Amino acid sequence: MEHLNQPTRFQFASDNYAGICPEAWQSLDKANRGYASSYGDDPWTARACEKLRELFETDCEVFFVFNGTAANSLALAALCKSYHSIICHELSHVETDECGASEFFSNGTKVLLVPGQDGKVDLSAVEHTIKRRTDIHYPKPRALSITQSTELGTLYSVAELQAIGDFARQYGLRLHMDGSRFANAVASLGVAPKELTWQAGVDVLCFGGTKNGMAVGEAVVFFNHELANEFDYRCKQAGQLASKMRFLAAPWIGMLENGAWLHNAAHANNCALQLAEGLQGIPGVTLAHPCQANAVFLQLPPAVADGLRAKGWHFYSFIGTGGARLMCSWETRPEDVEAFISDTRELVQK
Ligand SMILES: *Cc1c(COP(=O)(O)O)cnc(C)c1O
Repeated sequence: MEHLNQPTRFQFASDNYAGICPEAWQSLDKANRGYASSYGDDPWTARACEKLRELFETDCEVFFVFNGTAANSLALAALCKSYHSIICHELSHVETDECGASEFFSNGTKVLLVPGQDGKVDLSAVEHTIKRRTDIHYPKPRALSITQSTELGTLYSVAELQAIGDFARQYGLRLHMDGSRFANAVASLGVAPKELTWQAGVDVLCFGGTKNGMAVGEAVVFFNHELANEFDYRCKQAGQLASKMRFLAAPWIGMLENGAWLHNAAHANNCALQLAEGLQGIPGVTLAHPCQANAVFLQLPPAVADGLRAKGWHFYSFIGTGGARLMCSWETRPEDVEAFISDTRELVQK
């Protein structure tokens, strides 16, 4: 089977290219010793929920689902009725990478898009979207969805989140946070998770486990208890109720108990920062967005991008000619960061 493994070197394509971190793996192993009740009625799931309540320092409702698309779309469906609308950034994963799942699981709730610099929603654009029509012919805005850290590797500050929360309350919008890289945001901002969530008015957080080092699984965390009503039925109907739930839950216990969730994220963030700093000084290479989490967005001369690929480096370039996205994970090695920088420098000098 060895030959099936790609070398971890050369890999900046995505943080979900990484494997399972040791702490998550050990938790799976521990949970795999004998029988346990199914469908979440087991001690592992109870403990994982408890750990998440401790982390957020509040009595929240927690559900584990298989992936981020399910977490986001089911959470958003719980916030809206079919005649409502969800406002989000035009580059949000909800809009661009979930194949219409939010509309599907909410039975047609319309997603309305707003622009905003560096992947963050511009509140004046949100306000315009709400106010431009208030008649019965327009899908009534009911949810605002934001991503932390964003799809462009940037962050909302605590103050920005508070402003968004205040805004949402003022307009009667429920606030959803796509936190597929929430850990990276916490590690980078160095604040308590509650400051980025319920204290800022977030009603529901989709907390990513997969990109943080688990095999699979995201936690849907409702800070607003009322909105969690019958969410278990929603999960079941959508095929998201794991019968061997302990294997979705156990990694959370291991990773929260020994801090691996934060340590993994901090490592990924540091690698991204090293990349950004090393690449920035190279002529013809510019950062397209501030590097605030575990992603580096670059503009490269197209020949350099091609040259890097020819050397075997993997990265995404979906952002147009010469655009490159480098993602770091818990598994990124500092020596690979150095090697990428020196390969880039060499190609520029050619
Ligand atoms: C990866 C990702 C998700 C989750 O995607 P799935 O492939 O459905 O697990 C959600 N939001 C963002 C911003 C992501 O990058």
